[in-house]
Amino acid sequence: MAACPTHINVPKFISMIRTDNIIGAAEVVKTSNALANTCGKICPEEVFCQSVCTRGKQDSPIQIRELHFFATQQEAKKGFSATKIFPASGKNVAVIGAGPAGLGCAFELSKLGYHVDVYDAQKPGGVPRKSIPLFRLAPRELESDTKFLSGFFATKKCLVDSKTFERIHREHDATFLAVGLGRDRLLGIAGEKLKGVLPVLQFLEKAKTAPSKMNVGKKVVIVGGGNVSLDAAATAKRLGAESVVLIYRRGEKEMRVWKGELDEARRQGVEIRFLINPVSILGKNKVAGIKCMRTRLGKQKDKTGRPVPVEIKGSDFTIDADTIVIAIGQTIDANWLGDFERKVGGYVKVRENFRTSLHGVFAGGDMIAGEGTIVQSVSHGKYAARAIHDYLSVK
Ligand SMILES: Cc1cc2nc3c(=O)[nH]c(=O)nc-3n(C[C@H](O)[C@H](O)[C@H](O)COP(=O)(O)OP(=O)(O)OC[C@H]3O[C@@H](n4cnc5c(N)ncnc54)[C@H](O)[C@@H]3O)c2cc1C
Repeated sequence: MAACPTHINVPKFISMIRTDNIIGAAEVVKTSNALANTCGKICPEEVFCQSVCTRGKQDSPIQIRELHFFATQQEAKKGFSATKIFPASGKNVAVIGAGPAGLGCAFELSKLGYHVDVYDAQKPGGVPRKSIPLFRLAPRELESDTKFLSGFFATKKCLVDSKTFERIHREHDATFLAVGLGRDRLLGIAGEKLKGVLPVLQFLEKAKTAPSKMNVGKKVVIVGGGNVSLDAAATAKRLGAESVVLIYRRGEKEMRVWKGELDEARRQGVEIRFLINPVSILGKNKVAGIKCMRTRLGKQKDKTGRPVPVEIKGSDFTIDADTIVIAIGQTIDANWLGDFERKVGGYVKVRENFRTSLHGVFAGGDMIAGEGTIVQSVSHGKYAARAIHDYLSVK
């Protein structure tokens, strides 16, 4: 329970499954986690619940996430159990962004009796809807969550800018910001604007919505060493690339990836090459290759605690490519957040209880913590909702 950011009562729901109370088990899970079906499918269990399962000390941990998914899927098939009507508080709260953090917050606020207006430029679901590949998350899983949540609050389609933000902030008793990290970081090297070079979110969104319109060619190079770059590599393989090479400037030990995803990419035939730094992208009208240098790990550590890669003089070489995907991280895509205090990386700084530097405005999810997970974002939303409740209770 402690290892799950949303603190699902694991012993309780497993014992309910044992006694054939599947709907009860699903209710326990869903009461804690607004995106129960989505997390049941793709939450990195080896990092959270299963990492501390005591059974793992004997042989292997209990498959907690799979049991949780079983219960919520059974409930979804039978039809949702009745949703309770919560006593209205008479106050209203705005939530900007309908990704995991925004939905987690809106759900918890509704349970606390608030009228919630959720604003998003697109359909609810955030990154899980737009970017996580279909081979890992089918639309039905996210839809069973968003359909369930639509019984509690409505989402308004609205691209928030500084003017709309001011109005929303003025018209509500409190505001929760959860706009995620919508802009890809770029390398800042020559040739990055050539045709055939794609930032990873753009690449994954296009591959998800219009795969038939994508022609990645025979050779694809992915730059980056995180889970998102592994998703891009596996996607490129599925789009028909004959060779997919992922290059990373550090070693395997320094990669911040879930082991299951790394193994899967290798099984798919993705070649992962370490200690390589891109220097420039080559080509005339279209990308033809990428010039790289070999690196070694220096003694100095960067702010992430990992050794800084140092380029080895004279080690440059070229990898041919028809498509290059840049997957080196994301940042906030919202110029209208200019007035908010920021921290390293450009993320919005929050004090305790998710309060931002602007009175009555709270924030959570990836926009405050950097690239995280769905369950962490849902948990930010949930606990920020409780902080908003405390704030409005004394206001
Ligand atoms: C490719 C990829 C694969 C991943 N795989 C996994 C995984 O397997 N498991 C896992 O746990 N996590 C995974 N993650 C991480 C997870 O998806 C994120 O941590 C999570 O989605 C962050 O939630 P969020 O609510 O903070 O932001 P987001 O999901 O980014 O949602 C933000 C929402 O805000 C909206 N928005 C932005 N700006 C505006 C605006 N100006 N006006 C109105 N609306 C706006 C957006 O449309 C979006 O709906 C993955 C991430 C990526 C990129």
